[in-house]
Amino acid sequence: MLNNHQWKLKDAQRCFEKPFLELMFEAQQIHRKHFDPSQIQISTLLSLKTGACPEDCKYCPQSSHYKTNLKSEPLMKIQSVIEKARQAKQSGSSRFCMGAAWKNPQERDMPYLEQIIREIKCLGLETCMTLGTLNASQASRLAAAGLDFYNHNLDTSSRFYNSIITTRKYQERLDTLNKVREAGIKICSGGIIGLGETVNDRAELLLELANLPIPPESIPINMLVKVEGTPLSNNKDVDAFDFIRTIAVARIMMPTSRIRLSAGREKMNDQTQAMCFMAGANSIFYGCKLLTTPNPKENEDLMLFRKLGLRAEPINIDRDYDEYKNELNNQITDKKNKQFYNAAAT
Ligand code: SF4
Repeated sequence: MLNNHQWKLKDAQRCFEKPFLELMFEAQQIHRKHFDPSQIQISTLLSLKTGACPEDCKYCPQSSHYKTNLKSEPLMKIQSVIEKARQAKQSGSSRFCMGAAWKNPQERDMPYLEQIIREIKCLGLETCMTLGTLNASQASRLAAAGLDFYNHNLDTSSRFYNSIITTRKYQERLDTLNKVREAGIKICSGGIIGLGETVNDRAELLLELANLPIPPESIPINMLVKVEGTPLSNNKDVDAFDFIRTIAVARIMMPTSRIRLSAGREKMNDQTQAMCFMAGANSIFYGCKLLTTPNPKENEDLMLFRKLGLRAEPINIDRDYDEYKNELNNQITDKKNKQFYNAAAT
């Protein structure tokens, strides 16, 4: 649905200035209008290729510009990825998100990515990838393979962005989001709190997302994970109320998007997480690792869900998978078909 409501900066700023409890009440009312408040969408995140990234994102241990203790790992084998996806499904995830520390995928990577998407779709999971900048042809190839979501975060306001990343322009990010949308893939895009940004930068980031032609279906709000060796490792801690406030404003400005409590959740106590859910967060990453940084252990999440009366949202797939599997089998076993892919050659 096209976005008819264009937010103004002063409206976003006004939301940030509201008394906390009033803001929470408003966010909760909006949340209940659009979602079942007892349901949480659960995603699992896997790193397909770790480290040695040419980008210089100042928060990221995977950047080759900084010396951290992170061990780089080459591209995972397809069968290992599928096995991880199977485990994620057994643990209750409905979406399998995969990241590769690239500036952008190369043409030679495309068959690998397409094959992974098809196989994971056959497991009955939604798929999401984050691979850096995409061109239009790559976006449409990923869409044709069945990719449901593409993640490309704006990270922060356009004003503050250059203090955090210099190797990729803000506009390049917006262009990728546009290509993803045009290809028919849903957008996952959000930001990070704790980079050293002002409240105004937070308002501008949410404004940028809310005023996209169609706001992102999924909005990860991350709390900076301070990793030794990265330039932001000594940043000031974010006040929990400021973080919760950002979630509440995101919920008010993007009422129908899923708001994901993402990186940094491991450092939050149960009470902070509960307030985030009250503010309108309704999606989490599940599993012990988020790309390269820790995440709460799965059983701790289940205990928290039980305490709060939350349950995992059922998998929402819009295709008949038997039909999809048959179609796929026909494609990938027919050497003449352009979808045929020789996995043994990777
Ligand atoms: S955030 Fe992504 S693009 Fe930036 S350095 Fe890390 S892996 Fe690379």
